[in-house]
Amino acid sequence: MKVRAVYPGSFDPITNGHIYIAERAAAIFDEVVVSVLVNERKSAAFSVSERCEMARKSLSHVSNITVDSFNGLLVDYVKQQGASVIIRGLRAMSDFEYEFQMALMNRQLAPEIETFFIVTDPKYSYVSSSSVREVFHFGGTVRDVVPPVVFDKLRERYRQ
Ligand code: ADP
Repeated sequence: MKVRAVYPGSFDPITNGHIYIAERAAAIFDEVVVSVLVNERKSAAFSVSERCEMARKSLSHVSNITVDSFNGLLVDYVKQQGASVIIRGLRAMSDFEYEFQMALMNRQLAPEIETFFIVTDPKYSYVSSSSVREVFHFGGTVRDVVPPVVFDKLRERYRQ
């Protein structure tokens, strides 16, 4: 039986830290769906279609990864996808508390779904989408922490 996993997140925008997690997940599971959350409450820098496009382009080298978007309850989406695993990345202890709480809540909602944590590469442990946006906005270099497609998009967005 093929094991399908969903890697959900805001990916606003996708960073090399996210890509690292997605690649490692793809080496373990048969199919990985990187899924962009349509979050109506949180205002995003990039639209859902822009976020999906950047993710799709920067993950096109991995044949068992697809990119999608979702809204509503994550566990419902995971079931709808025919998946049984939720992938999340851990950067530091500070991620742990929130991630642990969410994993327990999701287990309560759907005990058959497993949350699978992958630890980041230390070189990406300080990288977040929000810091990338901020650093770029104020003229800092983010070339080493985002894929080229994201770098170009940031340039388009903030340096017009
Ligand atoms: P969310 O809003 O769901 O936290 P993010 O796009 O910020 O969405 O993150 C999605 C997932 O990727 C989370 O599990 C987060 O901890 C993980 N993640 C974010 N940045 C990194 C990174 N640099 N290295 C590893 N994992 C990361």
